[in-house]
Amino acid sequence: MMGIAYRLVAQMKRLLRQEEGVIHKDWGGRLPIALVYPNTYYIGMSSLAVHVLYRWLNQPRDVVCERVFHSVETHPQKEELPLSLESQRPLQEFSALAFTVSYELDYFHIVDILRRAGIPLLAAQRDETWPLMIAGGPAVSANPEPLADILDIFAVGEAEALLPSLLEVLPEACHVARPRALDLLAALPGLYVPMRHNAPVRRVWQRDLDASPAMTQIYTPHTEFGDRGLIEIGRGCWRSCRFCLTGFTYRPTRYVSMEVVLNLAREVQKYRDKVGLVSAAVSDHPQIDPVVTELRRMGLKVAVSSLRIDSLSETLMRALAESDTQTLTIAPEAGSPRLRQLINKPQDETRLLEMVSLAARYNFPQLKMYFMIGHPGETDADVEAIVDLISAVRARFPRHIVINATPYVPKPHTPFQWAAMAPADVLAARIAYLEKRLQPWRVTVRSDSPAWAEVEGALARGDRRLGKVLIEMERTSLREWKRALKRAGLSVQEYLRARSYDETLPWSVVDSGVTRAFLAREMQRAQETMTQTAPDEAEGCLL
Ligand code: SF4
Repeated sequence: MMGIAYRLVAQMKRLLRQEEGVIHKDWGGRLPIALVYPNTYYIGMSSLAVHVLYRWLNQPRDVVCERVFHSVETHPQKEELPLSLESQRPLQEFSALAFTVSYELDYFHIVDILRRAGIPLLAAQRDETWPLMIAGGPAVSANPEPLADILDIFAVGEAEALLPSLLEVLPEACHVARPRALDLLAALPGLYVPMRHNAPVRRVWQRDLDASPAMTQIYTPHTEFGDRGLIEIGRGCWRSCRFCLTGFTYRPTRYVSMEVVLNLAREVQKYRDKVGLVSAAVSDHPQIDPVVTELRRMGLKVAVSSLRIDSLSETLMRALAESDTQTLTIAPEAGSPRLRQLINKPQDETRLLEMVSLAARYNFPQLKMYFMIGHPGETDADVEAIVDLISAVRARFPRHIVINATPYVPKPHTPFQWAAMAPADVLAARIAYLEKRLQPWRVTVRSDSPAWAEVEGALARGDRRLGKVLIEMERTSLREWKRALKRAGLSVQEYLRARSYDETLPWSVVDSGVTRAFLAREMQRAQETMTQTAPDEAEGCLL
């Protein structure tokens, strides 16, 4: 045990020495909050959410916030106590644990963290001698139910809008009897407290992004973005692609003004010569061309995540090429115009191919294209259409092409929340087909495991009974998952099936602000597209 702790502390100190921007505060008289990211340090520090929450939680003088990760450098051993990075204190010394959860598969890590920390796993078993546990982030904000028996409070919506009232009440809530604390917190906007049955909870959101800019706080080489500072330039997306959680749960679309983006870029310039612009759809920012032109004039390199073809300009493409961008990423999501119309992400193929030719002229070493496999209504013909599209792309782009063929997982609060998830064997067969067809053209096909996508699918649209399954699992493996499901008398198919319009959905505890009628209408439109334009060969249709 001593050896494990010594190794962990040594790893943490090594990482801290390489960080710039870390906040060290004395604990005396302050409320200690652990910001917990239930995955590795590397992945957590690549998430802008960790940076901004860390900064905002440390802003009040009477709060000290330190980071905790599921693992630091190596996979944690069973008996390894989770410690905070800054002062290497165990979780039990904190008054509150604030989990930020991006992915459903990280739920396993949450349980593992609590178990290793020696904290009772059920909220009902914990009194005020244990830290209060609050969770937020896209996954739990959309559907907190699988964790509703485990964590105490769920933040529904955006942190800037939630934190002022939460931080006002938290010092008292952490020092009174737990039932009273839950009453206090259940009265705040945007907080779901399962033990107080205060559902549905309306999502809260920040009106003015200029008032609370989000950017990298800590610079470290040990992230995916070690060479740059990240700046959020917009949030939400108005395009309503029917599969997209971001498109429906971060409404309305808001942008950071050019003036603020450039001010933040000056901050980044103190640490790095490259800025990563972050938004659901970066190229949709109304001033994207002047922003990147000015950033280049300031001598900064520019990077972006993925781009919308229809709003991608040559100015942006040139700025990326001049910034030594290695990979240009676009996301057609589906191969055929029919399926793109069905998912409501229509993209003109002629324009797409023009942009690919332009990318070739600007000498990008790699082109990456995102597709989802298993959209509702997808047929074998739609998968064949990906092959056709890539063949046209290959003819125009001579360098390395990567396609990400990700299994599609229906998400709550989207029009496809009622759709069945494609069976894992269908997904696996379609991905294998793509690999076989594209390999001769030197196209790399990457994909996530269809079997794990099923687990993600169950958790994404899961209910409270899955909490028992999470607790029952002794380690994170597919075998353990199946065993725990069986012991709980559950089947994964219950969660992956199509839902009827009249059933109560577990995630109705969250009011996303988008009406059920709107989502249902969008789903019906998708179904009309299926029947109007389905190819003769409709076999394999997933709905
Ligand atoms: S997939 Fe992209 S363009 Fe479509 S709604 Fe989501 S963020 Fe917007």
